[in-house]
Amino acid sequence: MMKYYSTRGDKTALSSAEAIKKGIADDGGLYMPESIPSLTLEEVESLIDKTYSERAFYVLSKFLDDYDSETLKKICEVSYNEERFGKEAAPVVKLQSGMSVLELWHGPTCAFKDMALQIMPRLLSSALVMTGEDKTALILVATSGDTGKAALEGYRDVDGVKILVFYPEKGVSGIQKLQMASQEGNNVGVVAIHGNFDDAQTGVKKIFSSDGIRAKLLEKNTFLSSANSINWGRLAPQIVYYVSAYCDMVKQGTIKLGDKIDVTVPTGNFGDIFAAYIAKKMGLPLDRLVCASNKNKILSDFFETGVYDRRRDFFTTTSPSMDILISSNLERLLWAASDCETVKGLMAELSEKGVYTITPELLARLKADFSGGWCSEEDCAATIKEVFESDKYVIDPHTAVAVKCAKEAQGENKMLVVSTASAYKFAPAVLKALAGKEEKEEFDSISSLSTLTNTTAPTPLATLKDKKVRFTDTCDKEDMPEKVLKF
Ligand SMILES: *Cc1c(COP(=O)(O)O)cnc(C)c1O
Repeated sequence: MMKYYSTRGDKTALSSAEAIKKGIADDGGLYMPESIPSLTLEEVESLIDKTYSERAFYVLSKFLDDYDSETLKKICEVSYNEERFGKEAAPVVKLQSGMSVLELWHGPTCAFKDMALQIMPRLLSSALVMTGEDKTALILVATSGDTGKAALEGYRDVDGVKILVFYPEKGVSGIQKLQMASQEGNNVGVVAIHGNFDDAQTGVKKIFSSDGIRAKLLEKNTFLSSANSINWGRLAPQIVYYVSAYCDMVKQGTIKLGDKIDVTVPTGNFGDIFAAYIAKKMGLPLDRLVCASNKNKILSDFFETGVYDRRRDFFTTTSPSMDILISSNLERLLWAASDCETVKGLMAELSEKGVYTITPELLARLKADFSGGWCSEEDCAATIKEVFESDKYVIDPHTAVAVKCAKEAQGENKMLVVSTASAYKFAPAVLKALAGKEEKEEFDSISSLSTLTNTTAPTPLATLKDKKVRFTDTCDKEDMPEKVLKF
């Protein structure tokens, strides 16, 4: 059975189900499998004519080998079925420029978080059964927008689990707010905080570390769990779509089996691109991994200099899901390219001084796989326009950041660009980039974008305006524990 260990040296070995249930190790480290299973070209070939859920089952079986095979297969089937993701869960589209675009936004909330958050709740629910857990898991989420909705949608009506989401009352877009407030399901709750995202995040962290609250929840036969992107249950499903995209590129005749491709990923917390790195280490023919940042270019600086320095200004951009100064999953890469002691030291420096520097040798090792790139707000808007003019193809600002960086990194290999959100999810910014106009009402930009580009908004966003609001609860940050205990 595959064993999972903390990146910071804790010697406790866990099964994948235990790692998914636990989320983060006691020493603060993240879980990683003891070795990366291999994927041969013959295996890749055998997946070419398979559906997305069959590909998912095949790849996940290698990592989640403690799960019963039939159960895992069923989980993959329901998570990626047509009702949730449409005909194709992760289609690859080819642009005039020769780039291929991997669309990861066909799930229920129209952003790539669905790729993992549709399946992870079911993996957790099974993990609870497998580990003989009789308590209910209460998932607490602090969100700046996208994750909250994707988690609500993923965990709704899942057995043995409840979910409560806190978001900053004034810190999310009108579309995001209504997406959450109208959430359906019998095990969900949504509360707006009087404060900003940091207040929500700090409040949730305090609750997680409060023994008093834990004890009170235990009396109600409940324990706390987290849905955030450092959980292995979110990372593993992301490996699948790189394998799937490669299969589709062969199928479409863009490449021959065995040809190397480069991949560009719009990056925030480093989870998405780290999954590409694992796929590469398994044996998938990926060459350069281009880590694309927006104006918050801490990662692009890091790959250039080897210095990770968060002591810098934070910018709010049109690609908010990448507005991040602490990319948690980078820890996994540092671990994979060095060792636990190094990781422990670097993470301590980051939390004490806000900066760390890796050795030239380690930087050289990272650079063998990764390049960094970044894109300004102006270039992001210009790229949205350019791609629409050349291809009549509408991309969102996160994807535009990646397209821009991909163009700069383009070499001899074919390039795959990861598209992480539907343009309609960020309709106001896209409309502004394309037509230079802004609607007074955020929702009007959805229909304006549709008219302007002659494309159709995804149903979940097009119908959002008429959805019934179920949650109007608000509270001060001090009252968050009370909300949790009453939920
Ligand atoms: C979360 C997110 C990202 C960043 O992905 P990471 O795994 O955090 O690097 C990029 N684009 C969109 C639309 C997202 O929601």
